Amino acid sequence: MKDEDNEEHSEEKEETDEHTEETNGEACAHCHHETPPDEIADKFPPDLMLTCSSCKRHHHPACIEFDNPVLVAKVQTYDWHCSNCKGCLICAKAGNDDKLLFCDTCDRGYHTFCLKPPLSNLPEGSWLCELCAVCISCKKKEDRHKNLRGLNWKHIVLPSEEKQSVGTYMCTYCENCEKHFNADRFCPLCFGVYEEDSDDIAMACCDKCDR
Ligand SMILES: [Zn+2]
Ligand SMILES: [Zn+2]
Ligand SMILES: [Zn+2]
Ligand SMILES: [Zn+2]
Ligand SMILES: [Zn+2]
Ligand SMILES: [Zn+2]
Repeated sequence: MKDEDNEEHSEEKEETDEHTEETNGEACAHCHHETPPDEIADKFPPDLMLTCSSCKRHHHPACIEFDNPVLVAKVQTYDWHCSNCKGCLICAKAGNDDKLLFCDTCDRGYHTFCLKPPLSNLPEGSWLCELCAVCISCKKKEDRHKNLRGLNWKHIVLPSEEKQSVGTYMCTYCENCEKHFNADRFCPLCFGVYEEDSDDIAMACCDKCDR
């Protein structure tokens, strides 16, 4: 055999999400470019890519249909996995993809049968995981078995001064507590909010976190 035989003619590679290791490591695993397609460039900073903590590949938010700044800010706060690598947070296994639910706010995956209580079907519409469906101030948790769609959880993202960021995810409030937060009645350490009639509480002396 001649050596040349080993060098297969590289045929026109199909555009797949499969192994693209040989491409530029900084490029997006989907569009194979460092800068996103023009039509999405103004939605997020052009250099912003989400990196899978498992396969280490980069993803433009828009290329994986992340159009929500809260979601984009939130996935940067933990070891996010891309859809190829994602498993269930509870059992830590992949597989049973048709039973894998994704949280609409943080993109973590959960098997319907791993939830407590388990869900018999994938819920229609949006679904928030237990890490996202809780108010940091009053710790209000609704029965997750019930329909969470009716609840307006407020996810606070502080805008960033850097251009290359969508901001920093801070915390989640219930609708009621968010009103106090918006009126600056909150503890900057624990994010607990004050009721309206106690706004003379010194910021340095929060009775929620004992500081
Ligand atoms: Zn891309
Ligand atoms: Zn991955
Ligand atoms: Zn599971
Ligand atoms: Zn979540
Ligand atoms: Zn609350
Ligand atoms: Zn506090």
